[in-house]
Amino acid sequence: MTRIVGRRPHSTALNAARRTRELAALGDDPVVDLLVIGGGITGVGIALDAASRGLRTVLVERHDLAHGTSRWSSKLVHGGLRYLASGQFGIAHESAAERHLLMTRVAPHLTRPLAQVLPLYAPGHMARGAYVGLGFGLGDGLRRFVGTPDAVLRGPGPIGRDRTLQLTPAVRADGLRGGMRGWDGQLFDDARLVVAVARTAAGFGASILTRVDAVRVQGDQAVLRDTITGSELHVRARAVLSATGVWAGEVDPDVHLRPSRGTHLVVETARFGGSDAALTVPVPGSTSRFVFTVPAPHGRTYIGITDVPADGPLPDVPRATDSEIDMLLDTVNTVMERPLTRADVIATFAGLRPLLTSADRTEVETSDLSRRHAILESADGVVTVVGGKLTTYRRMAEDGVDAAVARRFRLGGVAASRTRALPLVGAWPRERSSKIAAAPRLVRRYGAEAPFVAALSDGPPAARGVTAQELRWGVCVEGALDVDDLMDRRTRLGLVAGDREASTDAALAAFAD
Ligand SMILES: Cc1cc2nc3c(=O)[nH]c(=O)nc-3n(C[C@H](O)[C@H](O)[C@H](O)COP(=O)(O)OP(=O)(O)OC[C@H]3O[C@@H](n4cnc5c(N)ncnc54)[C@H](O)[C@@H]3O)c2cc1C
Repeated sequence: MTRIVGRRPHSTALNAARRTRELAALGDDPVVDLLVIGGGITGVGIALDAASRGLRTVLVERHDLAHGTSRWSSKLVHGGLRYLASGQFGIAHESAAERHLLMTRVAPHLTRPLAQVLPLYAPGHMARGAYVGLGFGLGDGLRRFVGTPDAVLRGPGPIGRDRTLQLTPAVRADGLRGGMRGWDGQLFDDARLVVAVARTAAGFGASILTRVDAVRVQGDQAVLRDTITGSELHVRARAVLSATGVWAGEVDPDVHLRPSRGTHLVVETARFGGSDAALTVPVPGSTSRFVFTVPAPHGRTYIGITDVPADGPLPDVPRATDSEIDMLLDTVNTVMERPLTRADVIATFAGLRPLLTSADRTEVETSDLSRRHAILESADGVVTVVGGKLTTYRRMAEDGVDAAVARRFRLGGVAASRTRALPLVGAWPRERSSKIAAAPRLVRRYGAEAPFVAALSDGPPAARGVTAQELRWGVCVEGALDVDDLMDRRTRLGLVAGDREASTDAALAAFAD
């Protein structure tokens, strides 16, 4: 059953035809090494880790890749600064080390350095500058400790008033004394990272099956339902890994989570004077909480983030509340020359953090719950990997597969993880991206694969400059099965209602082809 490690004999393309073929093959031979439940970043990371070790791996996702929390993040590749501030050195180090791998080897094409600018106003600018400067300095020490070079992420430092206004032109000039600038990693898009990891896993032979719900799960078997045809399949596995995020308690009722909602607003970047930096604004009354802006695709900027307990039934798609929208606007407006209003908010999105608690600790504030990941085993042997964050998915996956092998594979003999050295599909050194023969916009989204995208046949374009070729690539190579997959997770045009409407015909045409 175990395959030779190191070969990459399979296509990385995901599409409806492959899904049908692989579901049929699973029906014929329903015994696998690893069954992974959940197609968010944790699940696809596990599938890649396992398949690249040579294990026969099947991943099932009840909706689409990145349908859950993994598409609602702030898209930051954290260096662990906030964990340093709370004395969690282990988790801070893990974050910085994984950021280093993502930005230098695993996905340099999907990441970039992001300047974070905190404007400083009198009075109190000296004290605040010193406090934030100390934090940035500690974070930078960690960057250097894990070996991330200056060419990838520069060191932090104070900047003058003019430079602050140049980098963040929308801030209030009155009382401005200067700013502090730090650097962190930014993902081009979180859902695209999930798809890239899933395709890389598929290249090692993993079956990535979307629209397949794990309806009954045990430590060595599961009943899967194809939600398109309704047919059911009984699969046996040496190990079953649940990577179901906030839904982990549905698979193993002993996993206790206290989800926390994080909300972002979507605003035209023009409203921030076209700024390409992350404007960082202290939350009034707090020394450690900040609201920040993140430049995003399609000429938009996200403003985040809240941290609010989200008890009660789990929605498939969480919604922002009015009080969260007001809190984000009120905070960012403390530094805006021309305050933002509700009319500037063209969309909102919210996600649920899968924060671990225990059954008797439901009174705890969600911001206090640990962001560390956990690996748990149910009474009948289902291994759950939960918590953590997007930045550390690779490490979570490695730990999860190690645990599953140690607990469930009696004979052992499985290779060690190799994902530290494994570039994702399209990976290409950032400093050589100008050598890729395609439009910079495509290079930014597809890395070394951009010329293949551009070579597809033409058709009606979608909104915001998204081409027909990109839509077709989504259908033929990135596993989009319907218009919503294309709008909401491959292109993210679905975030803004007007863009979705303007793009639906083009998306339908991509499927008609
Ligand atoms: C608002 C917000 C901002 C964040 N910002 C950042 C950030 O900037 N940087 C960072 O590193 N991290 C960030 N995080 C954390 C990060 O987004 C999450 O830790 C991560 O996305 C969780 O991924 P996951 O795969 O574990 O869960 P999910 O992405 O939720 O995936 C779970 C999947 O399992 C599927 N599923 C559930 N049950 C079943 C079943 N029975 N059968 C089949 N499929 C099933 C679901 O459909 C879902 O797709 C943020 C989180 C939030 C909420």
